[in-house]
Amino acid sequence: MKREYWQEELEVLHRNELKKLQVERLQATLGHAGRSPFYNKVFQQKNIKADNIKDVEQIWDLPFTTKQDLRENFPYGFLTMPKKEIVRLHSSSGTTGNPTVVFHNRHDLDSWANLVARSLFIAGVRDTDVFQNICGYGLFTGGLGFQYGIEKLGALSIPAGAGNSLRQIKLMRDYGTTAAHAIPSYLGRLYEVFEAEGLDPKKDTQLRIFVIGAEPHTDEQRRRIEEMYGVKAYNSFGLTEMNGPGVAFECEYQDGMHIWEDAYLVEIVNPDTLEPVPDGDYGELVITTLDRQAMPLIRYRTRDITRIIPDRCKCGRTHRRIDRITGRSDDMFIIKGCNVFPMQIEGILLKIPEVGSDYMITLETMNGNDEMVVEVEVKKDWFRGDIRRLESLTRSITAQIRDEVLVKPAVKLVEAGSLPKPEGKAVRVIDLRNGGIKN
Ligand code: AMP
Ligand code: ZN
Repeated sequence: MKREYWQEELEVLHRNELKKLQVERLQATLGHAGRSPFYNKVFQQKNIKADNIKDVEQIWDLPFTTKQDLRENFPYGFLTMPKKEIVRLHSSSGTTGNPTVVFHNRHDLDSWANLVARSLFIAGVRDTDVFQNICGYGLFTGGLGFQYGIEKLGALSIPAGAGNSLRQIKLMRDYGTTAAHAIPSYLGRLYEVFEAEGLDPKKDTQLRIFVIGAEPHTDEQRRRIEEMYGVKAYNSFGLTEMNGPGVAFECEYQDGMHIWEDAYLVEIVNPDTLEPVPDGDYGELVITTLDRQAMPLIRYRTRDITRIIPDRCKCGRTHRRIDRITGRSDDMFIIKGCNVFPMQIEGILLKIPEVGSDYMITLETMNGNDEMVVEVEVKKDWFRGDIRRLESLTRSITAQIRDEVLVKPAVKLVEAGSLPKPEGKAVRVIDLRNGGIKN
């Protein structure tokens, strides 16, 4: 069978050639970056010159860039060119302090659209598809980011926006949607609306592909989505600072996400020591943009925890894969001395068939002790059934979570649909300890 690629010459480029391309692009990137007030100062202090870079490893001599740097230099401190050249900005929803803003010129937007098109292509989307983009349009990158990628690919796009499940279902049925992008936590809720309408997405739609991402989720959640809708669901990773979607994407093998190394230089570092970790080990993902002009970022600390999958993918692409994000280093919470990632708890819950699609972890202080309360939605017919079965389910969930994270939770089962549903990304943890609210 002949394999299909979006940009064969780049996707299967021999790694030595890919490295050469990275060095060229890194030089160009540093050239652009040096024109921004922020990097100009850094480069002068450290005596860094773009032309001296002969190897990508030399990047280790450069300092990291952090979200804090972006906030402190808000809004224009990273801009490399006059505003006349800039055609768009996107920003990520900071709940505290200045938002994180990223600026693009025309080149940057073209490059981004191409990366999204390439990403959709490797997940099997083609120009014959009808693609419904179910997420907020506006400053959030998932809206316009996918929009331009879908158009570049040539599929018929439906810019549906977020929410309004009945309308989403109507659009799917009216236009015969075959592929869609949505955040995974929304798809469980959408399914409940299908059910309430007496519809089965497997029979009553033509969906075949979902692209899911923008928030951490487990393989269990992916498999559930695939079963509910009768589709293949592909993991899509990105962040505003790196454009948004189109940074790393799963191919047909669904075994880790190819990170586009012609556009992004990847490092995985130990988040405490900031030293590189060997391929295969988990650490924090650090990325340098290689194809951005208006606002390049160098060694940006994403806070996302993942690893490089060491072996080559069966699809033939030479760009390495990163593993599913297990969480953000700032997502982790410590309770009773134990480090816990919300995804560890999700991994347990979504393996249990009676459990619905949502859960919420609340950390609170009760009688001077810190407690972890886990509210779990249970499917309706189960919730309304035999009380003894519910009690035994509570005990079983409690024991499984305790075995995984070494802290005994207070598990509360609630009816499917009863937990609060935010419009955008799911909120999994609320920390009420010491009176503070953090999510
Ligand atoms: P934002 O820039 O506001 O869209 O947020 C980007 C962040 O969302 C990333 O740094 C990750 O923490 C998270 N994220 C995006 N895509 C994924 C994904 N596929 N899996 C896990 N987390 C993701
Ligand atoms: Zn692959």
